[in-house]
Amino acid sequence: MKLFIGMLGTETNTCSPIPTGWNVWNGTLLHRRSDAEESAPALFQGLKAVVNETMNQRGWEVEFGLFAFAQPAGLTPRSVYEQLRDELLTDLRDSSNVDAVLLILHGAMVAEGYDDCEGDLIERIREQVGPDVPVGAELDLHCHVIQKMVENANALVGYKEYPHVDVLPRMLELFAILADAAEGKVNPVTSFFRCRMIGMIHTTREPMRGFVNELSALEGKNGVLNAWVGHGFPYGDVPDMGATMVVVTDGIPVQGVELAEKLGRRLFAMRQDICSSPLTLDECLNQAEQAAEGPVTIADTADNAGGGAPGDSTFFLSEMINRGIDNSAIAVFYDPVAVSLCQDAGLNTQIKLRIGGKMGPSSGPPVDVLATVIGLANEVTDNMGEIIMSYGASAAIKIHLGGEVSLLPESGIDVILTENRAQCYSPKAFSQLGVDPQLKKILVVKSTQHFHAGFAPISKQILYAGDLGALSGDMLKIPYERVDTTGLWPFSDDPFAS
Ligand SMILES: [Zn+2]
Repeated sequence: MKLFIGMLGTETNTCSPIPTGWNVWNGTLLHRRSDAEESAPALFQGLKAVVNETMNQRGWEVEFGLFAFAQPAGLTPRSVYEQLRDELLTDLRDSSNVDAVLLILHGAMVAEGYDDCEGDLIERIREQVGPDVPVGAELDLHCHVIQKMVENANALVGYKEYPHVDVLPRMLELFAILADAAEGKVNPVTSFFRCRMIGMIHTTREPMRGFVNELSALEGKNGVLNAWVGHGFPYGDVPDMGATMVVVTDGIPVQGVELAEKLGRRLFAMRQDICSSPLTLDECLNQAEQAAEGPVTIADTADNAGGGAPGDSTFFLSEMINRGIDNSAIAVFYDPVAVSLCQDAGLNTQIKLRIGGKMGPSSGPPVDVLATVIGLANEVTDNMGEIIMSYGASAAIKIHLGGEVSLLPESGIDVILTENRAQCYSPKAFSQLGVDPQLKKILVVKSTQHFHAGFAPISKQILYAGDLGALSGDMLKIPYERVDTTGLWPFSDDPFAS
């Protein structure tokens, strides 16, 4: 038996001014079927090793198609999407006698002229392979679940965890469902229920933690193959945006819909308790400064590159300089120009540097600092769970406050600058550049929640800020034009009532 596997994904922030063009795809992951094995990026190699091992254990062959993923940004240009899509379709056509198709997608990809890239892709794949070959897609839980995807795929399996520490296990579960289907053991069918709500939901906190555990416990019994919550992606202004409960059953779609509705209404009932409301920047800094012990980790959620934000906003940095907060550190600042200047200045060199604030009004103004280059590296990677991500060339600088030049670890503000636009995934973002995050009183990380897996174990306290920057933590402030907000909490108190 033979599996075809391919990847085409990004999370589109429809308000972001950054086009998801070829530079973004090339800079994140773009590995073609014809590319030499030696040139494969670490992210692809890691996935390939896991897939090959699993296939071998089950006695399946595997054909790899295009693997393309882009760091979240704005719309993908039409020609770029169509070229990537058609390349993946050609790869599949060139792979003879495929028994199942597994797609690693995102679920919130929007291109010019395509609100639902995943639905378009899955529909074309279904046309190509016919009705009998099982087709499944793995989705990020920040996806828009759309009818066309459900109609054309046998199984949609999403991540359960935010932070996304379960990308690989979910992919392997989907493979097992597709392989069982191809071998005639199950008949997977996907059902869903729209929960008429939107919010940022952390699965690390109760009551969501318990709810996710319950979903896992339902699987493998009573014809339920998989159950998960599509949280929705609030920064994607498309008509079907919102949370969705998804259930994959073994050929019992009516019961699947009933179960999805029952679970989806329970999720809705928990909405006040599971959707996070971030603090303001000032509230976070006030609390962190008053904390008896550090590190206090503050998530700058409004500048999370993983949600399509610029990654170079200066609101925290400016206020920390104003307040003279030393013994602190920030990661990661997208500023390839500043990285290049630090490289040319060299390690341990004092430098006047202008950092951040380059990408647009949501980045705030640039900040001029006197700093010393304290760390340099040509290629820095980090981990999101088992997935390897690249920051590219990176530099650490120590900003000297109040004209006082000191290189003691507790002095000044240490800032990690990167060549690639990325969020801060783990404490390695600091430590690989020679900054020990555990010694700091305050850490600011540009991330919404992925940072949590790595930073929770080293932090005395974690705070979330979401008022200044591209991604407002207050859903009511997102300038929707195409989402019908009258049918969605928190815009409507109870959209099920009407
Ligand atoms: Zn996500």
